[in-house]
Amino acid sequence: MAQRESEIVIVGAGPTGASLALALAQAGFETVLLDARDLTATPPQDTRNFAIVTGSWRLLDAVGITPALEGETQPLHGLEAVDGGTHWFGAPRVLFGDEDVPERGEGETLGHMVEAPKLQAALDSAIKATGKLTHLSPVRFAGYETQPGKVIVRLEDGETISARLLIGADGVNSPVRTAAGIPTEGRDYGKSVFAANVTLSQPHGGVARQLFTPEGPFATLPLKGDRANLAWYMKRGAPEAMAKLPAEEVEAELNHRFAHFAGEMKIDGPMGSYPLILKIAERLIDDRVALVGDAVRRINPLAGQGLNQGFRDVGALYDAIIEADRAGLDIGSPQTLSAYQVSRRFGANSAALAMDGIDRLFSNDAALTKPVRGLGLMLADRIPPVRRALAGVASASGHGLPSLMQPR
Ligand SMILES: Cc1cc2nc3c(=O)[nH]c(=O)nc-3n(C[C@H](O)[C@H](O)[C@H](O)COP(=O)(O)OP(=O)(O)OC[C@H]3O[C@@H](n4cnc5c(N)ncnc54)[C@H](O)[C@@H]3O)c2cc1C
Repeated sequence: MAQRESEIVIVGAGPTGASLALALAQAGFETVLLDARDLTATPPQDTRNFAIVTGSWRLLDAVGITPALEGETQPLHGLEAVDGGTHWFGAPRVLFGDEDVPERGEGETLGHMVEAPKLQAALDSAIKATGKLTHLSPVRFAGYETQPGKVIVRLEDGETISARLLIGADGVNSPVRTAAGIPTEGRDYGKSVFAANVTLSQPHGGVARQLFTPEGPFATLPLKGDRANLAWYMKRGAPEAMAKLPAEEVEAELNHRFAHFAGEMKIDGPMGSYPLILKIAERLIDDRVALVGDAVRRINPLAGQGLNQGFRDVGALYDAIIEADRAGLDIGSPQTLSAYQVSRRFGANSAALAMDGIDRLFSNDAALTKPVRGLGLMLADRIPPVRRALAGVASASGHGLPSLMQPR
C-alpha cells in the first residue's frame, strides 16, 4: 500500500482535533485529519451541552465555525453558584455576568451554550468544505514509529502516513498517548452525572446556575427558549438507574428536590449518564508527538471547563507551530514541542485540580469546610478584583491568551 506524505497528522476529529486541523490547514500546513467515526455521517445522539466560554468562542470564530452555529446557540450571560448546605443566615452565592469578562469586545458574552452534536456537525461540514485539509474516515490509528526528522503513522487498514508531527486529539483513552508510552494519573470519583434537557417553568435569562448540596452539585445550563440542560451529580449507580426510569418518575423526583431552586421542570428529550473520572497525562509531548484536549486531561465537568481547556491546548500548540515555522525551525522538533508544553505547564492541570478541590470542598456539610466555602463565595461576589480574576479564568479571556483566543 502507498505511503502518504504530509506535514502534520491529527488523530481524532472531535472538537479539539477538528478545530486545530482547520486552523493549521488555513495557515497553509499540509494536514491529514483522521477519525474512527465516519465524518460524512450525522454525529451520534448525545445529551451533552457545552458551555463554550468567551476565549473558546473566539477560537471557533477564527476557524470559521460560528456562522454555522448562528441561531443554534444560547448566549450565556451569567454564572451563578449557590451553596445549598444548611446555613443560619441564608445560602452564600456568587453571580458573574457579561460585564465581568476582562477586555470584552463589543457584543461579547460570557459564552455560548451549544449542543454537542450541533458543534460536531458544524465542524464536520467545515472539514469537508476545506480543500486544503485531507480527512480520512472511518479509519483507525494503529501505531507509529519515529525515524530521523519524521514520524510514520500506521492505520489499522495498513496505510501509512509520513509526517513531521503527530497530534493526538483522540480523547480520554487516547491510543496515541498509549503508543507514546505517556503515563496518566487520576482517580475515579465514584460518582456519575445524570444529564437531560428539560423545559423550565421560569425564564433562565441566559444564566447557568449551580446548587452545591452535600450529596453533590445540581446544575441547570440555559438552552434556547425556556429549556435547560441539567446535570445532577450522584453516587455511581444512581444516575445510571435514573436514566432508565420513565420520564414522569424522574420529573417527580427532580421537582421534589430542586423545584425550590430551578422551578418546575419537565423532561424534554433523551436522558443519559456519564461516570466522573479524573485522568491527567504526565506529559503533553513525546518525540514528534503532542497531545491536546481530553487526551491530556479528563476533568470533572462541574464548571464546564473540560473542552474549554482543550481549546486552550489547541491555541497554544497552534502558536508554537506557527512561531517555529516563521523562524524556519522544524515544527516537530523538541524545541517546538517544549514551547507548547511550557506554555500549558500551569494551565494544563490547574483546572483539573481546581475542579477536584471544589468537588471535595462542596460535597459535604462538615462544620469545618462550610464557613470556608461560604466566605469564598462571599468574597468572590463582593470584591470586584476577585470577581474579575475569577471571571477571566472562567471565560478564558484577559491576558496571556493564545492568538486564536484574543479579541479581534
Ligand atoms: C456530561 C459531560 C458534560 C460536559 N460538559 C462540558 C461543558 O459544558 N464544557 C466543556 O468545556 N466541556 C464539557 N465536557 C467535556 C467535553 O465533553 C470534552 O472535554 C470534549 O469532548 C473533549 O474533546 P476532544 O476533541 O479532546 O475529544 P473527543 O471529543 O473525545 O474526540 C476524540 C476523537 O478521537 C477519535 N478516536 C479515538 N480513538 C481513535 C483511533 N484509534 N483512531 C481514530 N480516531 C480515534 C474518536 O472517534 C473521537 O472522534 C463535558 C463532558 C461530559 C462527560
